[in-house]
Amino acid sequence: MDLSQIPVVDNHCHPLIPSRAQLDPLSLAREFYHGIGDIDNGSAKGVASPERLADLAQFGVVHTLVRQLARLFDCPCDLAAVVIERNRRTAQGMGAYAQMLYQDAGIVATVVDSDLPPGAPGLELIPGRVMRLFQMGPAIDRFLAESDSYEALLAGYLAALEQAVRVDGFVGVKSHLAEVAGLGAPLPTPQETLAAFAAAKQGDAVAYKALYAAVFGATLTACQELDAPVHLHTGITGGTWNGPIGNADPFLLSPWLSRPEFRASKVVLLHAGYPWIEQASLMAHAFPQVWVDISWVTPWTSLRAVECMRAFLAAAPLSRLMIGSGGHGTPEVAWLGATVAKIALGAALDEAVGYDLLAKEAAPRIAAMVLHENAERLYGLGE
Ligand SMILES: [Zn+2]
Repeated sequence: MDLSQIPVVDNHCHPLIPSRAQLDPLSLAREFYHGIGDIDNGSAKGVASPERLADLAQFGVVHTLVRQLARLFDCPCDLAAVVIERNRRTAQGMGAYAQMLYQDAGIVATVVDSDLPPGAPGLELIPGRVMRLFQMGPAIDRFLAESDSYEALLAGYLAALEQAVRVDGFVGVKSHLAEVAGLGAPLPTPQETLAAFAAAKQGDAVAYKALYAAVFGATLTACQELDAPVHLHTGITGGTWNGPIGNADPFLLSPWLSRPEFRASKVVLLHAGYPWIEQASLMAHAFPQVWVDISWVTPWTSLRAVECMRAFLAAAPLSRLMIGSGGHGTPEVAWLGATVAKIALGAALDEAVGYDLLAKEAAPRIAAMVLHENAERLYGLGE
């Protein structure tokens, strides 16, 4: 099945970095070392050793990158060759290059994990419609510093959230519950929250986690009224070096989402919980307020992407799956994410049709839902 003409909404991407217009081959490969920013820009912990640098070109996703760029540029299929051609094109304008890539993959809109103001260089470079997310962490830090009581913190935080969604056009909230406190963090009681505020104000790191969980709960509630989804990294967050990565299994959210007060809070599981993709799919199966974002899986698991796509199609409602990339820095990541998603989705649907598990006419409908319609519905695009 050819999905090349179907538009894509990239549900999860980060700002682009204009200074990355000119890259040497290993630096382009390094763009696909997810989480490099979390490890002190590659200088720490042996990541920049010669052996590791040689590894960078040997990730499966980099082989897919080289193959797909060689197709697009009609040049030899070799990292050095595609980088020469890529740098020749970016020298003529990074914006035009990004537009060419986004057009090739059909990306028409992007949810950017950023609260940069409209027109900021990192957003301006992203072609098509750009939607932003209110960032929970920086807002908590700001109001923790400014407030003398939890009540004041919460009032300030909720007012800022409401302003962002109702006035400034933000389409949702980005939370880092997995990285800060773990998805299994309990919702603190009101008394625990007051104690956590007092201790966090004094710089207590453990109390800060409880404070974050309390504000996460308040955010879930507020976002029902605002009709805004809450995005959460699940599974691989890039930060394998940092934080409670083992605490990012989507199943750990069950105690949160089964609480009556949060049953109408829309939650987007970013990175589809990879490697816990079955769990992410089953959370969407079980909880009507859950959406699964297939970013990170595409493009990072390119050589396994068909198999992953089968897992999503198998268990989650098809109306709850969305494509994303987790792209950052250079436009190649988002382009490759959409490209891999189309290849993998097309192959998985073709396979189901071939086995007579799916009607031939149903396959293109499902592809359109996953690639753009589900996201358009979630964000009210075109309304
Ligand atoms: Zn991300």
